[in-house]
Amino acid sequence: MLYSNQPTNFSGTTGKQPASRIQEQYRQQHPKAEARTTFLVFLSSHHVLWDQSDFRFQQGRCFALENIFGSQKATVTLQHPTPTRGSLFFVSSTSWIHSAGFYFAFWCGKRRARQEVLDLITSQHQQQQQQQQQQSHPLLLVIHMILSFLSNTTVPYTAPSYIETQWQSLFEGRNEALVTLALMFVTHEIIYFARCIPYLIADQMPSLQKYKIQQKTIQNTAQNQWKVFRYVLISHFFFELPMIIGFHPIAVYFGMAISSVPFPPLSKMAMQVFAFFVFEDFFHYWAHRGLHYGPFYKHIHKLHHEWSAPFGVAAEYAHPVEVLILGTGTIGGPLLWCWFSGDLHLITTLTWITLRLFQAVEAHSGYDFPWSTHNWLPGWSGAEHHDYHHMAFTNNFSTSFRWWDHIFGTNKKYLAYKERKAAEHKAVEAKKVK
Ligand SMILES: [Zn+2]
Ligand SMILES: [Zn+2]
Repeated sequence: MLYSNQPTNFSGTTGKQPASRIQEQYRQQHPKAEARTTFLVFLSSHHVLWDQSDFRFQQGRCFALENIFGSQKATVTLQHPTPTRGSLFFVSSTSWIHSAGFYFAFWCGKRRARQEVLDLITSQHQQQQQQQQQQSHPLLLVIHMILSFLSNTTVPYTAPSYIETQWQSLFEGRNEALVTLALMFVTHEIIYFARCIPYLIADQMPSLQKYKIQQKTIQNTAQNQWKVFRYVLISHFFFELPMIIGFHPIAVYFGMAISSVPFPPLSKMAMQVFAFFVFEDFFHYWAHRGLHYGPFYKHIHKLHHEWSAPFGVAAEYAHPVEVLILGTGTIGGPLLWCWFSGDLHLITTLTWITLRLFQAVEAHSGYDFPWSTHNWLPGWSGAEHHDYHHMAFTNNFSTSFRWWDHIFGTNKKYLAYKERKAAEHKAVEAKKVK
Protein backbone atom coordinates (compact mmCIF):
# COMPACT_ATOMS: atom_id res chain seq x y z
CA MET A 1 0.00 0.00 0.00
CA LEU A 2 1.47 3.27 -0.97
CA TYR A 3 -0.75 5.74 0.75
CA SER A 4 -4.19 5.52 2.11
CA ASN A 5 -6.58 7.71 3.95
CA GLN A 6 -6.78 5.25 6.77
CA PRO A 7 -6.36 6.91 10.13
CA THR A 8 -3.42 4.65 10.91
CA ASN A 9 -1.33 6.31 8.30
CA PHE A 10 0.66 9.23 9.73
CA SER A 11 -1.88 9.37 12.47
CA GLY A 12 0.66 10.96 14.74
CA THR A 13 1.18 13.99 12.60
CA THR A 14 -1.71 15.86 14.13
CA GLY A 15 -0.98 14.66 17.61
CA LYS A 16 2.04 14.49 19.78
CA GLN A 17 4.08 11.93 17.95
CA PRO A 18 7.79 12.66 17.92
CA ALA A 19 9.26 13.61 14.59
CA SER A 20 11.65 10.66 14.65
CA ARG A 21 8.79 8.16 14.82
CA ILE A 22 7.02 9.81 11.91
CA GLN A 23 10.26 9.74 10.04
CA GLU A 24 10.67 6.03 10.81
CA GLN A 25 7.11 5.31 9.71
CA TYR A 26 7.75 7.17 6.54
CA ARG A 27 10.94 5.27 5.87
CA GLN A 28 9.27 1.93 6.46
CA GLN A 29 6.37 2.73 4.22
CA HIS A 30 8.45 4.23 1.48
CA PRO A 31 11.76 2.44 1.36
CA LYS A 32 12.43 3.72 -2.11
CA ALA A 33 10.97 7.16 -1.80
CA GLU A 34 12.52 9.41 -4.35
CA ALA A 35 13.14 13.07 -4.30
CA ARG A 36 10.79 13.55 -7.18
CA THR A 37 7.83 12.42 -5.17
CA THR A 38 5.44 15.26 -4.72
CA PHE A 39 3.13 15.34 -1.77
CA LEU A 40 0.05 17.37 -1.84
CA VAL A 41 -1.97 17.19 1.24
CA PHE A 42 -4.56 19.68 2.20
CA LEU A 43 -4.62 20.74 5.73
CA SER A 44 -7.97 21.05 7.34
CA SER A 45 -8.82 24.51 8.46
CA HIS A 46 -8.65 23.75 12.15
CA HIS A 47 -5.40 21.94 12.55
CA VAL A 48 -2.71 19.56 11.46
CA LEU A 49 0.45 20.55 13.11
CA TRP A 50 2.88 21.17 10.39
CA ASP A 51 5.56 21.74 13.00
CA GLN A 52 5.34 18.15 14.07
CA SER A 53 6.23 16.68 10.73
CA ASP A 54 9.64 15.47 9.89
CA PHE A 55 12.35 17.78 8.76
CA ARG A 56 14.24 15.63 6.32
CA PHE A 57 10.98 14.44 4.98
CA GLN A 58 10.23 18.08 4.22
CA GLN A 59 13.64 18.66 2.78
CA GLY A 60 13.04 15.78 0.38
CA ARG A 61 9.80 17.35 -0.60
CA CYS A 62 11.33 20.72 -1.07
CA PHE A 63 13.94 19.23 -3.29
CA ALA A 64 11.27 17.42 -5.18
CA LEU A 65 9.31 20.54 -5.88
CA GLU A 66 12.33 22.59 -6.67
CA ASN A 67 13.35 19.93 -9.04
CA ILE A 68 10.07 19.83 -10.77
CA PHE A 69 9.03 23.43 -10.73
CA GLY A 70 12.26 25.26 -10.18
CA SER A 71 10.63 26.97 -7.27
CA GLN A 72 11.16 26.96 -3.54
CA LYS A 73 7.50 27.28 -2.85
CA ALA A 74 5.68 24.06 -2.33
CA THR A 75 2.42 22.93 -0.99
CA VAL A 76 2.81 21.19 2.25
CA THR A 77 1.40 17.92 2.87
CA LEU A 78 0.22 15.89 5.64
CA GLN A 79 -2.62 13.55 5.84
CA HIS A 80 -5.38 14.30 8.22
CA PRO A 81 -6.30 11.22 10.21
CA THR A 82 -9.99 12.00 10.39
CA PRO A 83 -11.11 13.55 7.13
CA THR A 84 -13.81 16.09 7.60
CA ARG A 85 -15.63 18.29 5.19
CA GLY A 86 -13.23 20.35 3.17
CA SER A 87 -10.25 18.60 4.60
CA LEU A 88 -7.61 16.80 2.99
CA PHE A 89 -6.45 13.96 1.18
CA PHE A 90 -3.12 13.66 -0.20
CA VAL A 91 -1.62 12.33 -3.25
CA SER A 92 1.78 11.25 -4.13
CA SER A 93 2.69 11.48 -7.71
CA THR A 94 5.04 12.98 -10.14
CA SER A 95 2.49 12.91 -12.83
CA TRP A 96 0.44 16.04 -13.27
CA ILE A 97 -2.52 13.89 -14.30
CA HIS A 98 -2.62 12.35 -10.86
CA SER A 99 -2.41 15.63 -9.09
CA ALA A 100 -4.93 17.21 -11.34
CA GLY A 101 -7.27 14.33 -10.59
CA PHE A 102 -6.73 14.86 -6.93
CA TYR A 103 -7.46 18.52 -7.21
CA PHE A 104 -10.59 17.70 -9.07
CA ALA A 105 -11.63 15.40 -6.26
CA PHE A 106 -10.92 17.98 -3.66
CA TRP A 107 -12.72 20.59 -5.61
CA CYS A 108 -15.83 18.52 -5.91
CA GLY A 109 -15.65 17.77 -2.23
CA LYS A 110 -17.39 14.50 -2.65
CA ARG A 111 -16.15 11.60 -0.67
CA ARG A 112 -16.91 9.10 -3.37
CA ALA A 113 -15.25 11.01 -6.13
CA ARG A 114 -12.26 11.56 -3.93
CA GLN A 115 -12.07 7.90 -3.07
CA GLU A 116 -12.28 6.90 -6.72
CA VAL A 117 -9.57 9.26 -7.73
CA LEU A 118 -7.53 8.15 -4.79
CA ASP A 119 -7.87 4.51 -5.73
CA LEU A 120 -7.02 5.30 -9.31
CA ILE A 121 -3.97 7.21 -8.28
CA THR A 122 -2.84 4.50 -5.89
CA SER A 123 -3.15 1.75 -8.46
CA GLN A 124 -1.48 3.80 -11.15
CA HIS A 125 1.31 4.71 -8.84
CA GLN A 126 1.90 1.11 -7.88
CA GLN A 127 2.23 0.21 -11.54
CA GLN A 128 4.71 2.97 -12.07
CA GLN A 129 6.80 2.27 -9.02
CA GLN A 130 9.40 0.28 -10.92
CA GLN A 131 9.53 2.75 -13.77
CA GLN A 132 11.37 5.97 -14.15
CA GLN A 133 9.61 8.94 -12.62
CA GLN A 134 8.09 11.28 -15.11
CA GLN A 135 8.53 14.97 -15.32
CA SER A 136 5.58 17.01 -14.14
CA HIS A 137 4.03 19.78 -16.07
CA PRO A 138 4.99 23.29 -14.94
CA LEU A 139 1.35 24.24 -15.19
CA LEU A 140 0.83 22.32 -11.97
CA LEU A 141 2.73 24.94 -10.05
CA VAL A 142 0.24 27.56 -11.15
CA ILE A 143 -2.62 25.32 -10.09
CA HIS A 144 -0.94 24.74 -6.75
CA MET A 145 -0.56 28.40 -6.11
CA ILE A 146 -4.09 29.28 -7.11
CA LEU A 147 -5.59 26.50 -5.02
CA SER A 148 -3.38 27.30 -2.08
CA PHE A 149 -4.55 30.86 -2.24
CA LEU A 150 -8.21 29.97 -2.66
CA SER A 151 -8.41 27.28 -0.04
CA ASN A 152 -6.16 29.09 2.41
CA THR A 153 -5.59 25.83 4.16
CA THR A 154 -2.20 24.95 2.80
CA VAL A 155 1.05 26.15 4.20
CA PRO A 156 3.80 27.36 1.92
CA TYR A 157 7.07 25.67 2.56
CA THR A 158 10.34 27.52 2.38
CA ALA A 159 13.86 26.29 2.92
CA PRO A 160 14.92 25.82 6.57
CA SER A 161 16.70 28.74 8.16
CA TYR A 162 20.18 28.57 9.65
CA ILE A 163 18.78 28.55 13.19
CA GLU A 164 16.36 25.74 12.37
CA THR A 165 19.18 23.62 10.99
CA GLN A 166 21.26 24.31 14.12
CA TRP A 167 18.30 23.59 16.34
CA GLN A 168 17.79 20.20 14.76
CA SER A 169 21.44 19.24 14.93
CA LEU A 170 21.40 20.19 18.61
CA PHE A 171 18.77 17.55 19.34
CA GLU A 172 19.93 15.00 16.78
CA GLY A 173 20.92 11.75 18.52
CA ARG A 174 20.71 13.31 21.99
CA ASN A 175 18.34 12.96 24.87
CA GLU A 176 15.63 15.56 24.29
CA ALA A 177 15.08 16.19 28.00
CA LEU A 178 18.76 16.85 28.59
CA VAL A 179 19.09 19.19 25.62
CA THR A 180 15.98 21.08 26.76
CA LEU A 181 17.38 21.36 30.28
CA ALA A 182 20.71 22.66 29.02
CA LEU A 183 19.03 25.12 26.64
CA MET A 184 16.73 26.50 29.32
CA PHE A 185 19.39 26.82 32.00
CA VAL A 186 22.15 28.22 29.80
CA THR A 187 19.78 30.69 28.15
CA HIS A 188 18.61 31.83 31.56
CA GLU A 189 22.13 32.31 32.91
CA ILE A 190 23.51 34.07 29.85
CA ILE A 191 20.57 36.39 29.35
CA TYR A 192 20.17 37.26 33.02
CA PHE A 193 23.76 38.18 33.71
CA ALA A 194 24.47 39.66 30.28
CA ARG A 195 21.44 41.91 30.69
CA CYS A 196 22.98 43.31 33.88
CA ILE A 197 26.22 44.32 32.16
CA PRO A 198 24.99 47.59 30.55
CA TYR A 199 23.84 48.79 34.01
CA LEU A 200 27.16 47.83 35.59
CA ILE A 201 28.88 49.91 32.92
CA ALA A 202 26.43 52.77 33.51
CA ASP A 203 27.37 52.66 37.23
CA GLN A 204 30.92 53.55 36.17
CA MET A 205 29.91 56.51 34.01
CA PRO A 206 29.38 59.78 35.90
CA SER A 207 27.59 61.32 32.93
CA LEU A 208 24.80 58.74 33.26
CA GLN A 209 24.24 59.20 36.99
CA LYS A 210 21.66 61.91 36.34
CA TYR A 211 19.37 59.13 35.04
CA LYS A 212 19.46 57.27 38.33
CA ILE A 213 15.91 57.24 39.68
CA GLN A 214 16.85 57.48 43.36
CA GLN A 215 19.58 60.03 43.80
CA LYS A 216 19.73 59.95 47.56
CA THR A 217 19.75 56.23 48.31
CA ILE A 218 22.81 54.54 46.87
CA GLN A 219 22.80 50.77 47.23
CA ASN A 220 24.46 49.68 44.01
CA THR A 221 27.88 49.53 45.62
CA ALA A 222 30.39 46.87 44.53
CA GLN A 223 29.97 45.13 47.88
CA ASN A 224 26.18 44.86 47.56
CA GLN A 225 26.41 43.82 43.91
CA TRP A 226 28.79 41.01 44.84
CA LYS A 227 26.57 39.86 47.71
CA VAL A 228 23.51 39.76 45.46
CA PHE A 229 25.41 38.09 42.62
CA ARG A 230 26.53 35.27 44.90
CA TYR A 231 23.06 34.74 46.32
CA VAL A 232 21.43 34.77 42.88
CA LEU A 233 23.97 32.31 41.48
CA ILE A 234 23.39 29.88 44.37
CA SER A 235 19.65 30.33 43.95
CA HIS A 236 19.93 29.54 40.23
CA PHE A 237 21.83 26.31 40.83
CA PHE A 238 20.00 25.04 43.88
CA PHE A 239 16.43 26.28 43.38
CA GLU A 240 15.88 27.18 39.75
CA LEU A 241 17.84 24.30 38.19
CA PRO A 242 15.71 21.63 39.90
CA MET A 243 12.60 23.47 38.69
CA ILE A 244 13.98 23.53 35.14
CA ILE A 245 14.67 19.77 35.35
CA GLY A 246 10.93 19.30 35.85
CA PHE A 247 10.12 21.48 32.85
CA HIS A 248 10.63 18.98 30.01
CA PRO A 249 8.30 16.20 31.18
CA ILE A 250 5.62 18.76 32.05
CA ALA A 251 6.01 20.55 28.71
CA VAL A 252 5.78 17.25 26.82
CA TYR A 253 2.71 16.28 28.85
CA PHE A 254 1.06 19.57 27.93
CA GLY A 255 1.92 18.96 24.26
CA MET A 256 4.71 21.45 23.59
CA ALA A 257 6.72 20.88 20.40
CA ILE A 258 10.34 20.58 21.47
CA SER A 259 12.85 19.46 18.85
CA SER A 260 10.75 19.71 15.72
CA VAL A 261 11.25 22.22 12.94
CA PRO A 262 10.31 24.41 11.19
CA PHE A 263 9.69 27.02 13.84
CA PRO A 264 6.34 28.75 13.97
CA PRO A 265 6.04 31.95 11.92
CA LEU A 266 7.23 35.13 13.64
CA SER A 267 3.73 36.61 13.68
CA LYS A 268 2.43 33.63 15.62
CA MET A 269 5.36 33.75 18.04
CA ALA A 270 4.78 37.45 18.65
CA MET A 271 1.10 36.88 19.35
CA GLN A 272 1.82 34.04 21.77
CA VAL A 273 4.58 35.94 23.58
CA PHE A 274 2.25 38.92 24.00
CA ALA A 275 -0.38 36.61 25.50
CA PHE A 276 2.23 35.29 27.97
CA PHE A 277 3.13 38.85 28.95
CA VAL A 278 -0.51 39.62 29.68
CA PHE A 279 -1.03 36.40 31.62
CA GLU A 280 2.15 36.75 33.65
CA ASP A 281 1.42 40.37 34.45
CA PHE A 282 -2.02 39.53 35.83
CA PHE A 283 -0.75 36.51 37.75
CA HIS A 284 2.19 38.44 39.14
CA TYR A 285 0.01 41.35 40.18
CA TRP A 286 -2.13 39.22 42.48
CA ALA A 287 0.62 36.88 43.67
CA HIS A 288 2.85 39.87 44.46
CA ARG A 289 0.03 41.68 46.21
CA GLY A 290 -0.57 38.52 48.22
CA LEU A 291 3.11 38.40 49.15
CA HIS A 292 2.72 41.82 50.75
CA TYR A 293 0.23 40.35 53.23
CA GLY A 294 1.72 40.36 56.78
CA PRO A 295 3.13 36.87 57.42
CA PHE A 296 3.88 36.21 53.74
CA TYR A 297 5.80 39.45 53.55
CA LYS A 298 7.69 38.80 56.76
CA HIS A 299 8.75 35.25 55.92
CA ILE A 300 9.03 35.33 52.12
CA HIS A 301 8.92 38.63 50.25
CA LYS A 302 10.91 40.76 52.72
CA LEU A 303 14.17 39.40 51.31
CA HIS A 304 13.46 40.84 47.86
CA HIS A 305 12.72 44.20 49.50
CA GLU A 306 16.12 44.31 51.18
CA TRP A 307 16.95 46.79 48.43
CA SER A 308 14.88 49.95 48.53
CA ALA A 309 16.93 51.30 45.61
CA PRO A 310 17.38 48.14 43.51
CA PHE A 311 19.96 47.39 40.83
CA GLY A 312 19.78 45.00 37.85
CA VAL A 313 21.18 41.82 39.34
CA ALA A 314 18.77 42.08 42.29
CA ALA A 315 15.85 41.16 40.02
CA GLU A 316 15.93 37.52 41.12
CA TYR A 317 17.18 38.21 44.62
CA ALA A 318 14.29 36.50 46.34
CA HIS A 319 13.26 33.74 48.71
CA PRO A 320 13.03 30.27 47.05
CA VAL A 321 9.29 30.14 47.76
CA GLU A 322 8.88 33.48 45.98
CA VAL A 323 10.93 32.16 43.04
CA LEU A 324 8.56 29.19 42.85
CA ILE A 325 5.36 31.25 43.16
CA LEU A 326 6.31 33.99 40.72
CA GLY A 327 8.03 31.50 38.38
CA THR A 328 4.64 29.81 38.03
CA GLY A 329 3.36 32.95 36.35
CA THR A 330 6.20 32.87 33.87
CA ILE A 331 5.93 29.23 32.88
CA GLY A 332 2.19 28.83 33.54
CA GLY A 333 1.22 30.96 30.53
CA PRO A 334 3.00 28.77 27.97
CA LEU A 335 1.75 25.56 29.62
CA LEU A 336 -1.86 26.74 29.69
CA TRP A 337 -1.58 27.93 26.10
CA CYS A 338 -0.26 24.51 25.14
CA TRP A 339 -3.02 22.78 27.02
CA PHE A 340 -5.78 24.65 25.27
CA SER A 341 -4.38 25.09 21.77
CA GLY A 342 -1.87 22.24 21.48
CA ASP A 343 0.17 24.65 19.43
CA LEU A 344 3.34 25.94 21.05
CA HIS A 345 7.01 25.46 20.30
CA LEU A 346 9.88 25.48 22.78
CA ILE A 347 11.57 28.23 20.76
CA THR A 348 8.59 30.51 21.52
CA THR A 349 8.84 29.66 25.21
CA LEU A 350 12.56 30.46 25.18
CA THR A 351 11.90 33.74 23.39
CA TRP A 352 9.32 34.61 26.03
CA ILE A 353 11.66 33.78 28.90
CA THR A 354 14.40 35.87 27.29
CA LEU A 355 12.10 38.90 26.99
CA ARG A 356 10.77 38.35 30.50
CA LEU A 357 14.35 38.42 31.84
CA PHE A 358 15.01 41.63 29.90
CA GLN A 359 11.93 43.11 31.54
CA ALA A 360 12.83 41.93 35.07
CA VAL A 361 16.41 43.20 35.00
CA GLU A 362 15.37 46.50 33.46
CA ALA A 363 12.66 46.98 36.09
CA HIS A 364 15.24 46.62 38.86
CA SER A 365 18.01 48.57 37.12
CA GLY A 366 17.39 51.77 39.05
CA TYR A 367 17.90 53.81 35.88
CA ASP A 368 15.36 55.67 33.82
CA PHE A 369 17.13 56.52 30.58
CA PRO A 370 15.45 58.48 27.80
CA TRP A 371 15.65 55.26 25.76
CA SER A 372 14.20 53.05 28.51
CA THR A 373 11.31 50.93 27.31
CA HIS A 374 8.48 52.74 29.11
CA ASN A 375 9.48 56.00 27.42
CA TRP A 376 8.53 54.67 24.01
CA LEU A 377 6.16 51.79 24.76
CA PRO A 378 2.83 53.05 26.11
CA GLY A 379 1.54 51.14 29.13
CA TRP A 380 4.91 49.50 29.85
CA SER A 381 5.87 49.73 33.51
CA GLY A 382 9.68 49.62 33.41
CA ALA A 383 12.17 50.68 36.05
CA GLU A 384 10.47 53.97 36.86
CA HIS A 385 7.33 52.05 37.94
CA HIS A 386 8.89 49.16 39.88
CA ASP A 387 11.56 51.32 41.49
CA TYR A 388 8.80 53.19 43.31
CA HIS A 389 7.51 49.85 44.66
CA HIS A 390 10.92 49.14 46.17
CA MET A 391 11.26 52.66 47.51
CA ALA A 392 7.78 52.91 49.05
CA PHE A 393 7.13 49.19 49.82
CA THR A 394 3.64 49.61 48.41
CA ASN A 395 1.76 50.30 45.16
CA ASN A 396 2.82 49.16 41.67
CA PHE A 397 2.55 45.41 42.11
CA SER A 398 2.52 44.39 38.46
CA THR A 399 5.51 43.47 36.32
CA SER A 400 5.19 44.46 32.69
CA PHE A 401 2.20 46.76 32.29
CA ARG A 402 0.70 49.57 34.32
CA TRP A 403 -2.94 48.79 33.69
CA TRP A 404 -3.75 46.44 36.63
CA ASP A 405 -2.41 48.87 39.19
CA HIS A 406 -4.49 51.53 37.52
CA ILE A 407 -7.65 49.40 37.36
CA PHE A 408 -7.36 48.12 40.96
CA GLY A 409 -6.32 51.51 42.31
CA THR A 410 -2.91 50.44 43.61
CA ASN A 411 -1.08 53.29 41.92
CA LYS A 412 -2.61 56.26 43.77
CA LYS A 413 0.34 56.90 46.10
CA TYR A 414 2.69 56.49 43.17
CA LEU A 415 0.78 59.04 41.07
CA ALA A 416 0.65 61.50 43.98
CA TYR A 417 4.41 61.06 44.45
CA LYS A 418 5.00 61.72 40.77
CA GLU A 419 2.89 64.87 40.94
CA ARG A 420 4.85 66.11 43.94
CA LYS A 421 8.10 65.41 42.13
CA ALA A 422 6.93 67.23 39.03
CA ALA A 423 5.89 70.25 41.12
CA GLU A 424 9.27 70.28 42.87
CA HIS A 425 11.02 70.10 39.52
CA LYS A 426 8.89 72.97 38.21
CA ALA A 427 9.73 75.11 41.24
CA VAL A 428 13.45 74.47 40.80
CA GLU A 429 13.24 75.38 37.11
CA ALA A 430 11.30 78.56 37.95
CA LYS A 431 13.96 79.55 40.46
CA LYS A 432 16.64 79.05 37.83
CA VAL A 433 14.85 81.37 35.39
CA LYS A 434 14.64 84.13 38.04
ZN1 LIG B 1 7.03 43.71 46.63
ZN1 LIG C 1 11.34 43.88 42.69
